[in-house]
Amino acid sequence: MNVLIVLAHPETRSFNAALMKTAVARLESAGHAVAVSDLYAEGFDPVERASHYVDIDDGVFKLLDAQRDHAKRQTLPEEVARELDRLEWADLVIFQFPLWWHAQPAILKGWFDRVMVYGGRYSSRMRYDNGYFKGKRALLSVTAGSPRQAFQPFGRAGDMAAWLWPIHASLYYVGFEVLAPQVSYGVQGGGIEYQKQEALEAHLADCKRHWVERLGHLESEDPIPFAGWQDWDEAGVLRETAPLRWRLG
Ligand SMILES: Cc1cc2nc3c(=O)[nH]c(=O)nc-3n(C[C@H](O)[C@H](O)[C@H](O)COP(=O)(O)OP(=O)(O)OC[C@H]3O[C@@H](n4cnc5c(N)ncnc54)[C@H](O)[C@@H]3O)c2cc1C
Repeated sequence: MNVLIVLAHPETRSFNAALMKTAVARLESAGHAVAVSDLYAEGFDPVERASHYVDIDDGVFKLLDAQRDHAKRQTLPEEVARELDRLEWADLVIFQFPLWWHAQPAILKGWFDRVMVYGGRYSSRMRYDNGYFKGKRALLSVTAGSPRQAFQPFGRAGDMAAWLWPIHASLYYVGFEVLAPQVSYGVQGGGIEYQKQEALEAHLADCKRHWVERLGHLESEDPIPFAGWQDWDEAGVLRETAPLRWRLG
């Protein structure tokens, strides 16, 4: 399969970059083709603004209109078009990033703002299980500083499922099947120590090993289940007939 890795980390010698390189080597050794979007290294501009677009009709910047019109005329900004070409090529997209303030780094949030183009890649009719990217898969590979046990609802580090939900929902919104996230917890360095150096090094080696093992069987994994169009009424409310797992929340 064709795998695109979108890396959002500013340092080429970071643990995130190491996980990206580990994935490239593992996937290529299994015969897959791999491409990398290194957002910082490529200077991706995550801030959406009028100056990215030519010919804003009446001088008022309306982002949804600008994205729709430029997608139609094939005049989208060059770096957006490049990312869309990469997505078109990919069967699986892996997002590799550190958890910053309980979310993805801003550069990756901006990537969604700019690359998931209204009209071109989603519309009121083309979303969720009718989404543009239907048939493709996506996976978040996330590192977090806090240890695993601190991540739980109302635990010190909070609920990882809640922190990742907005990204999972956005991927599903544009049609991706979303695989369970790969979370490397307790990825520490510098002054914040939860464990001694030797134990930390062993722990980080374990994180890499688990990632390598998982990369070997991604193709046979089932995606996270989401409710779909058949589960909602015209107002978007869950139907009484929807499976119990959705109605229990
Ligand atoms: C702005 C900000 C907000 C944050 N918010 C949160 C938050 O909300 N929740 C939370 O839990 N954490 C948070 N953190 C912590 C953050 O998630 C971690 O710092 C990050 O996940 C670590 O990943 P990294 O790639 O930056 O690691 P690095 O800092 O690059 O490295 C981490 C450790 O890995 C080692 N290492 C680096 N490369 C390798 C390699 N190739 N092989 C083996 N070991 C290696 C380093 O020596 C170091 O010990 C935040 C950090 C920042 C800067």
